[in-house]
Amino acid sequence: HIDNVKGDVTFEHVSFGYDEDKMIIKDFSANVKSGQKIAIVGPTGAGKSTLVNLLMKFYEVNEGEITIDGYPLSTLSRKAIHDAFCMVLQDTWMFEGTIRENLIYSEEGATEERMREVCKAVGVEHFIKTLSKGYDTVLDDNTSLSAGQKQLVTIARAMLKDSPMLILDEATSSVDTRTEILIQQAMDKLMEGRTSFVIAHRLSTIKDADLILVMKDGQIIEQGNHDEL
Ligand code: ATP
Ligand code: MG
Repeated sequence: HIDNVKGDVTFEHVSFGYDEDKMIIKDFSANVKSGQKIAIVGPTGAGKSTLVNLLMKFYEVNEGEITIDGYPLSTLSRKAIHDAFCMVLQDTWMFEGTIRENLIYSEEGATEERMREVCKAVGVEHFIKTLSKGYDTVLDDNTSLSAGQKQLVTIARAMLKDSPMLILDEATSSVDTRTEILIQQAMDKLMEGRTSFVIAHRLSTIKDADLILVMKDGQIIEQGNHDEL
């Protein structure tokens, strides 16, 4: 467990390959200060999702070290790391269960009031109310969500988890303009006050970032803010 996570993160000469003989991340270093917004951009296959997989300790680095508040990930449990992050990943996932269960899945949970408040803020409350059983509607083959609705529910779920850091792998699925605006606003709220790693496809996200890391073939080829690049 990490007490009172500040959210400083460093990558120190990190190398990693899913196979020993093919490195995907190569000598990657970066220094992220508490509360900063980091946008990670680059072509498909550059290693962006792999980098956040390492930060989540889904895989162990082959060389180098990643630290959170100065603690090497190797000394932290996966649970401690996962508790420290809200996550919105590239493939949005839903359980077979009710919308409520999909929104609040941690043991600590959030209150009913907070759940409604967040859903309202994110802009999904109206849609949930149109379902036959509202928050108790079971998501299954008969009731499934559109890509945009899924993204919004996933953002609401992350907001309800309320961890001090954020990993956001922006989805690329096309949604209508109204939903796009809702998603953008919800993501902005989610990033507020959190050290945020955003694998960014939207120009607006990139423009607002404190630091943009341009990745190619597992390395940073350029970095700076939007004005500098
Ligand atoms: P995209 O923009 O398409 O999401 P990305 O920058 O996130 O791309 P990664 O998913 O990190 O790219 O993939 C980097 C490389 O690692 C690719 O060559 C990919 O084939 C490989 N790779 C990704 N996941 C795995 C895995 N689980 N096992 C083996 N190789 C993988
Ligand atoms: Mg990816």
